Parts: sequence; structure tokens; C-alpha cells
Amino acid sequence: MKVSMCMFGPTAHGETPAKTARTLKSVGVNEVVYFTSLYHGYRLLQPRFPSKAIYTLEADRVFWDPDPAYYKDSSIKPQKSADFGDKDNVAAMITALHKEGIAFSPLVPMCAAERIVQDRPDLAVENLYGAKDRLFLCYNNPEVRAYRIAMVRELSARYDIDHLMLDKIPQIMLEQSAFNGLIDPPLRTVGSFCFCRHCVARARKSGIDLNEIKRRSLVIARRSLDMPPWLIAAQGAKLIGDTEIPLLLLEEPLLHTMLQFRFETAVEFVGEIRAILKRNKPRADLQAAFVPPSHVGHDMTSPRSWLTSQSYQKYRGQVDEIFCCIHAEPDIVRFEIARAVAAAEGAVRVVASMRLYGKTRPEEVAAMCDGALEAGSAGVSLLGYDVTSDCLLHALKTWVKSRRT
Ligand SMILES: [Zn+2]
Repeated sequence: MKVSMCMFGPTAHGETPAKTARTLKSVGVNEVVYFTSLYHGYRLLQPRFPSKAIYTLEADRVFWDPDPAYYKDSSIKPQKSADFGDKDNVAAMITALHKEGIAFSPLVPMCAAERIVQDRPDLAVENLYGAKDRLFLCYNNPEVRAYRIAMVRELSARYDIDHLMLDKIPQIMLEQSAFNGLIDPPLRTVGSFCFCRHCVARARKSGIDLNEIKRRSLVIARRSLDMPPWLIAAQGAKLIGDTEIPLLLLEEPLLHTMLQFRFETAVEFVGEIRAILKRNKPRADLQAAFVPPSHVGHDMTSPRSWLTSQSYQKYRGQVDEIFCCIHAEPDIVRFEIARAVAAAEGAVRVVASMRLYGKTRPEEVAAMCDGALEAGSAGVSLLGYDVTSDCLLHALKTWVKSRRT
């Protein structure tokens, strides 16, 4: 049984990789998903690591020692971590984990990159008003593809990795609220589309006129913007469920076409990544971290699967394993995993990635993990080693032991 645990990079402060690996082994973990960089400077509380118990992540700085030769055809060059700059933590972790028989899966955030995109607005998603996004790279931009492909090529060629995890595949979706008010569902839908020149050119190849879709999107956006904001705010509880979007897609087939186009090109991009990985590491699984099919995702943009182009059906044949990231209560975990497994229809393995922090109580851990397996999850994954507490780690250890005896 797969027991996977995530880590936000070299964030087990004051602990050697060998000690981390020994502790993970004692818990029963047999795979580590390691963030090789972060797309956003999340602030972490790390009760188990008192030397840096409040720690802010670096954005877009990598935790290995990049070889510039891999990036000679990329205008973006990776920048090494400033906090852990003297070490190659990827190499050190691989050695330490393999010594304990634990697999290593480096996680690469593909399309979100807060620092890079602000330095290089030419790589950004461009919305219907021509405004550049400050978090998301457009994956239809050849320079973005070249950079991420170079990164995957380097990680899979130079390092003894067992698998590769793609995160932030593939694209922007607007958050629920802007600074000055709720972004209602139709506005959030059309406001999440990219109309950059690379998307326009790629759409033309598929016989789609993105400028026509943009014109229609502007009309739909105007209806939302003309609605008095206090009326939208007053109905906030109703407007988070996207209740009206199925009707909008039936009435506005151009929007449906746009969503399909996003999926088509995202799957194409993932296919390019897959080819690189399989060439260098034929036995490695290509993994992807997706939001659950029915509930809102847990991260800063509150993503929905349909709008952020994550489907448990459409990536069949391109990814081997999808981590369904459902950071919620045991009942919700079980429900979402059953939905995801049903959509995958056996063509892709689904693994429940669950919350071992925050609201999760030690007494819930066994029910959460059992529920995931009963719903068809191919093992369990927990986030994460560096942000959990001792009692939650102990609860996981007890559960793993009970399953293996
Ligand atoms: Zn674009």
C-alpha cells in the first residue's frame, strides 16, 4: 500500500535528511512528494521544528543545484534558494530516502509562478481586458513550455527520481473575491480565460476564433460588472456554488468551446512532459495533483475542477496517477475519492491526498484513510511532514501499522 507524504522542500529545519528519512520510515511512509519550488510565499506554522516554527516559503526558487546547460534554450533561468543555497537538497533527500527504501517524487509547479510572472509579464496569462495575471504563466506560451520542459528534463536526467508530480496543471482560475468584492460565477468563468497571442495562435490551429470568444466574454462580463456589488455580496452564499454555470454553457456555446480548448491544449502540454520523463525514466509514474471533482479546492484560488482544467477523465493516457487533493473531513474525502475513481474508470490510478494539519483531529486520521481506501484510492497521501504535529504523525503511524498487521 502506498503511504505517501508531502514536504514543502527542505523545511524540516534543524533536521538532517537522514533523520527525516528515518522518521518517515518509522511512520510507515514509502514515498515522499517533495516540492522542488513553491509558486507562492505561503507562511507555514511548523510546531515540530521549533528553530523556525513560523516560516515563509520562498517563491520560485529551486531546492537543487541547477545546471545551466539544461536551460540554454530557455529565456527563463532557474534561481537557487537563498535560504538553503549552499546545499543540493534534492540530491541529499534522494540519497537519504533511498537508503530507507522510500521513493522520491519531485513536485514541479507548472503554471503558477508568482515571482517569475511578475518579473516577466510577457509570459503571463492575459485576461479579456488585456491585463496580465500576477500568478499564472500561460502554458501555451512556447517560452513557458521550454522552461518547464527543461526543468523536467534536468530533474529526470540528473537525479535518481522514482516518479514526477505535476502541480498547478494547467491554468488560472480566478479566486472567489477580489479586494473590493465577490467575483460572481459568470465573471469568474470568462475572467479566467487567457487571450494572449499564443493562445490565439494555438486556437486558430484547432479552428477556434479566440477573438470572437473574447468579444462574447466581454458582453457577459459587463452584465456581472453592471450588477450593483451590494446585491452580489448579499447573495454571496448562493454564488459560490456555480449553480448558474451549466445554464450559461448551454446558452453560450462559445464558452463551452473555450473550456474544451483549454483542456485540449493542457493535455497536449502534459503529453510533452510525459515524453521527456519516460525517455529518461521509463519506469517512473507521471503524477498530477488535482482538485477534487465536486468540492472547492483548498488553495488560495479556491479552484474548481471544471474551470481550472482538471479532469479525472481527460488526462487518461497522459498521467499514470492523479492525487485528488481533498483537505477536508473524512466523509468528504470518501465522497470525493469515489467520484474521482468513477470518472477515471480504471484508466488512471487515483490517490487521496489528505490534510494532516489544521482542522484534522488525530481521532479522524484512521477514518479518513480507511474511507479513502474503501472509495478506491490507490493508497494514501498526507500533507505534510513539515507542517503536521507530533500527535497527528503518531495517529498516522498507528493507522499504517494497523493496516499492515
Ligand atoms: Zn495564453
